[in-house]
Amino acid sequence: MNVEIADKIHDVIIIGTGMGSLTTACLLAKDGYEVLVLERNLLPGGCVSSYYRKGFVFEAGATTLVGLDEHMPLKYLLDETGININAQQLDPPMQVHLKNNVSLTRHQDIDDWIAEAERVFGIKNQRAFWEYCYKVSRFVWETSLQQLSFPPTQLRDLLPMAKNFRPRQLGYAKAAFTSMKALLAKYDLLDNSSFVDFVNEQLLITAQNKIEEVNVLFGATALCYTNYGNYYVPGGLINLVQPLCDYINDHKGYVATRTKAIRIDKPNGVYQIQARHRKQEFTLKAKRIVSGIPLNNTLELFSLPTRKKSLMESAQLVSAFSLGVGFRPHKTPDCIHHQIHLKQPLPLIAADSIFVSLNHPDDLSRTPEGMAVLNVSTHVHHPEKNYTFDKEIVQQSIINTLIKHDFLKQENIQYVHASTPSSWENWTGRKYGFVGGYPQYLKIKPWRMNDARLDGKAAYVCGDTTYPGQGIPGACLSGIIAYQKMKLDGII
Ligand SMILES: Cc1cc2nc3c(=O)[nH]c(=O)nc-3n(C[C@H](O)[C@H](O)[C@H](O)COP(=O)(O)OP(=O)(O)OC[C@H]3O[C@@H](n4cnc5c(N)ncnc54)[C@H](O)[C@@H]3O)c2cc1C
Repeated sequence: MNVEIADKIHDVIIIGTGMGSLTTACLLAKDGYEVLVLERNLLPGGCVSSYYRKGFVFEAGATTLVGLDEHMPLKYLLDETGININAQQLDPPMQVHLKNNVSLTRHQDIDDWIAEAERVFGIKNQRAFWEYCYKVSRFVWETSLQQLSFPPTQLRDLLPMAKNFRPRQLGYAKAAFTSMKALLAKYDLLDNSSFVDFVNEQLLITAQNKIEEVNVLFGATALCYTNYGNYYVPGGLINLVQPLCDYINDHKGYVATRTKAIRIDKPNGVYQIQARHRKQEFTLKAKRIVSGIPLNNTLELFSLPTRKKSLMESAQLVSAFSLGVGFRPHKTPDCIHHQIHLKQPLPLIAADSIFVSLNHPDDLSRTPEGMAVLNVSTHVHHPEKNYTFDKEIVQQSIINTLIKHDFLKQENIQYVHASTPSSWENWTGRKYGFVGGYPQYLKIKPWRMNDARLDGKAAYVCGDTTYPGQGIPGACLSGIIAYQKMKLDGII
């Protein structure tokens, strides 16, 4: 942090280098604004990052990537800015290993996928169910980039919404009131217990909740995640966020790593951010602020009155237990992402499934020669209550599962390390170490989700706790929306 940065009044200061903040930062940089991005860590990306240990490059959090197809937020960002990402499409996107030892492939092509679902879950109503879900998911993606002033919280949001209104949008409104459980009942699939288990575990990956709580708009889109282009970024997902940081640095901006925002106020009409770089404290000044950290953290930083926000507390949230394993592979995988449904829940954290992602076999940049790397993640509910635990016990249970499913051989394991909610709080600063955004709850309709406006003046918020949140596509869209609302408010 140099004196020049500390002395001037910046056009915009953005807190965090998560996918939400980097999206807003790049769009502002494209418009010519000088953007200072503060990141408390040495590496950018937050939950989308990669790090090096003992010769292996592990993913920090996210491993699957969608959002590069037509009508999707990441594609919008790349098209707007001209940023290039080296991403390679996966075929197939995912495999799922059920409790009854049956494995299935989540083909991207919808007809291939329906045939696979019929093979495994029986012919009854699978086609009708999946065709409906796919139709809803296409509607959600197409509409999300058309309605960038959603959710409306001011009169001025309504005009662009009305301009972009299409009658068919009304037809889907009732899907926001209906649970996935009700949809399964409608298709007479609730008695198909193996299918219900499958849907529940798949929803957990993207919606962080189960059929009773996830609405059809979100749930159908989450279930059809694999029916869109799924991508792998060679070298790890750090290579998704680093080009965004480079773009900011190349366009008058600056990404200041190891710089933590510790308090924000606004004494004389200019935002003042108390920040710490290593052991030194600075006061930084800005005309506008965007916070890309969770609302729970943002409101603790902000010593100014803010607009009403609905905060979720630990009991409603989830964190992750994750494992990185460097090993010598005994076979070449034909798919890199796998969800394994467990016969017995994991000890201590009671998770019913684990998600396993391997490095792409063609990607030799993440391991020493002849080796492979995998990441495992699973859910930890109520992270404040389950902040730390004996991670060896959970780790061993996961390793045993990986061996049983033939991903690994014990003697080939070279390096293992595990992270609990406390590690997540250390890495990302997120309160309680909760990750994955605010889970879906039926009572929170899309239009009641948190808006990007923070103080009703020139402070905004994005990331996976604001609309629409969750996952890389959701966080990226939240960043686009924060930028659009700044425009709509005449702040930029
Ligand atoms: C284990 C795991 C697996 C996941 N898997 C997937 C997946 O496969 N696909 C997918 O799409 N999504 C996945 N997700 C979710 C997805 O990664 C996140 O929802 C999304 O990346 C969150 O982005 P964000 O913008 O909210 O910011 P965050 O990722 O939370 O980043 C915020 C950044 O701000 C920094 N920061 C915090 N406080 C301060 C401060 N005071 N000052 C300065 N900097 C600060 C943090 O260090 C961090 O870098 C996964 C998440 C986890 C944890």
